Order: sequence, then structure tokens, then C-alpha cells
Amino acid sequence: MSVSSVLPRDPGCIFCKIAAGEIPAKKIHEDDELIAFHDIAPKAPIHFMIVPKAHIPSTAQLGPEHAALMGRIMLLAPKLAQEQGCTPYPDGGWRIVINTGRHGGQEVPHLHVHVLGGPRPWQWG
Ligand code: 5GP
Ligand code: ZN
Repeated sequence: MSVSSVLPRDPGCIFCKIAAGEIPAKKIHEDDELIAFHDIAPKAPIHFMIVPKAHIPSTAQLGPEHAALMGRIMLLAPKLAQEQGCTPYPDGGWRIVINTGRHGGQEVPHLHVHVLGGPRPWQWG
């Protein structure tokens, strides 16, 4: 049995479907725990998301068992940002965003970390 087949998933969740390869996405990274792909409606010249394959609805559900996973995401974000062509720090850089809940502007209820970069202006200010 593969690792991904035992991960928690929500059958109606669009990011679970992308993680399982059931819906296409412009993937830029995949490993046993994480997938990263371009946002379908980019708000900056470079805009991708890093998504745990496990269905975690938001940061509100994170516990100590997720510390390593979230740490991996925070290390992967700058690596992929540079690979995707973001201008180097400090003149360039990137923005890392996690929307949580309705007031936090979260539309897809599967935890995802936005990474945005490239020359301004951006749609997300
Ligand atoms: P949120 O507002 O939940 O933080 O961000 C959800 C993001 O997912 C939005 O930026 C939206 O454009 C993106 N998105 C929604 N559906 C899809 C999809 O099917 N494929 C991809 N690649 N991105 C999606
Ligand atoms: Zn999901």
C-alpha cells in the first residue's frame, strides 16, 4: 500500500483530488507528503501553492503532530520561489500567505500555503 493511499482525505475536496491526480494541475513539486502547483487564478506574476496531501482543513486544525510537515513547507517555499523565477532577496523576494476561515479569506477548505512573487504591481497588493 502506498503512503498516499492511507492519508486522510475528503471525497468532495478539490485539493484532495489534485493531490490524488484526479484533477489536473500545473505541478511544480511532489513528494510523499506535499504537492505544489500553480494557482489557477494567479494574483501575482508567480503564484503557486504548497499543499499537504493529507486533508487538513486549515491552520485551525494544526497540532504538534504537524510541526515537521509545516516546517517542511516553510523550507520548500523559498526553494520553489527561487526555482520559479522570483527575483532574489532583498530586491525581489516573495510573499507567503495562509488564509484561514471566512474572515481570513479562505475559499478552499484544505490547508494551502500561497507563495507569490515577481515584479509588482500584484492583484494582492
Ligand atoms: P484561498 O482563498 O482558499 O486561500 O485560496 C484558494 C486558491 O485556490 C485561490 O487562489 C484559487 O484561485 C485557487 N484554486 C481554486 N480552485 C483551483 C483549482 O482547481 N486549481 C488550481 N490550481 N487552483 C485553484
Ligand atoms: Zn482536501
